[in-house]
Amino acid sequence: MSALGSNTPFLKPSPPRLSDHLDLLKRIEASGVFSNFGPVNTEFETRVVDELFGGEGHCVTVCNATVGLMLALRAQLEGRATQGGLALMPSFTFAATPHAAVWAGLTPLLCDIEPLAWRPCPDDERHLLSTFGREVAAIIPYATFGADLDLTRYDALARESAAALVVDAAASLGSIAQNGRAFGAGFPWPVVFSMHVTKTFSTSEAGLVYSADKAIIDRVRAMANFGFGEPRTATISGLNGKLSEIAAAIALLRLDGFDEIVDRRRLSYALYAQGLPECGFQVETCVRQAHQFVPVLLPTAASARREEIVESLGQVGIGTGRYFSPHVAEQPYFQRVARFDSLPVTDAVSQRCLSLPLSDQMTADEVVNVIQALRNALSGSGTDKRKARS
Ligand SMILES: *Cc1c(COP(=O)(O)O)cnc(C)c1O
Repeated sequence: MSALGSNTPFLKPSPPRLSDHLDLLKRIEASGVFSNFGPVNTEFETRVVDELFGGEGHCVTVCNATVGLMLALRAQLEGRATQGGLALMPSFTFAATPHAAVWAGLTPLLCDIEPLAWRPCPDDERHLLSTFGREVAAIIPYATFGADLDLTRYDALARESAAALVVDAAASLGSIAQNGRAFGAGFPWPVVFSMHVTKTFSTSEAGLVYSADKAIIDRVRAMANFGFGEPRTATISGLNGKLSEIAAAIALLRLDGFDEIVDRRRLSYALYAQGLPECGFQVETCVRQAHQFVPVLLPTAASARREEIVESLGQVGIGTGRYFSPHVAEQPYFQRVARFDSLPVTDAVSQRCLSLPLSDQMTADEVVNVIQALRNALSGSGTDKRKARS
């Protein structure tokens, strides 16, 4: 089978179509409320807790997850006797995680990852916590690509070390953890989800801060609204991190049929895993993982040819990503502002990683096409295919 004429972009976001929901837009216009935690936003927050988190806990929307991470950190750090400090996080994450820490006045301290699930390495976390002690002001684990994390362990780590804890769960909305509940459900520390258009819960720009602790959500909500703990009166630090009613409407619409979207994506992911035994796949930690795209590790022997493989897939219309290469410690800005030692597992995973296409509507044929094209590229026959085409 050939991939001739195929056109499979890396991501093909399909957020809810507002143009099909003029009723909702008219409702917003009729209400005269366009932002500031209006009725559509409130309906969304209520439904998210009920429908995704089994009715337990509280949440507040934010304009994006990066601002959500900043606010969730500041909400815990403010009022502490000592300012600043280190923020322990993996180097295998998106730039938003260390950026948020820096904006919250912290210095990223980068740890290594586990070789199979690519989550922050527990041994390295313990090692860094014992080396830096009270200098570590915050722990920011990343639930890698929507994977489960041992949140009980993080709760204990934060309590022992008196550090703040914020979970970067940017890709996790839709993931069901090992305990059978939505990832983060019932957790007393802030868990930050992204609803960016490229994430599984695709909107446009939006984020969500969830916690079982109402006080932390109230605090984040006030901070996202200029620190107004009292009407028009700043009682704590703040900025404008609010979600508009239009953006909330897209998020509200995304709740309908969301489970089917997560399941469809899982089916495509499973096809990829079945069809590419020569590639490394993330070891499963969830009952149901929400998949944003399909990260694989190229066979070791082929990893040096990654650029050539990417190009050869591009020639047949297949887009790819490289999450996360370069990883945080390899990026010039973070090399200046972060602290880290050698990160052998992160380096190894990052060198071999390639992210393959995934979308809500992707068909089995399309997945098979990508698999075939990648196998051709791996075996070095990608070039021949291009010649045959012209
Ligand atoms: C997408 C992502 C973010 C940022 O989310 P935004 O809503 O785009 O700000 C943060 N951390 C990780 C790990 C991400 O993948």
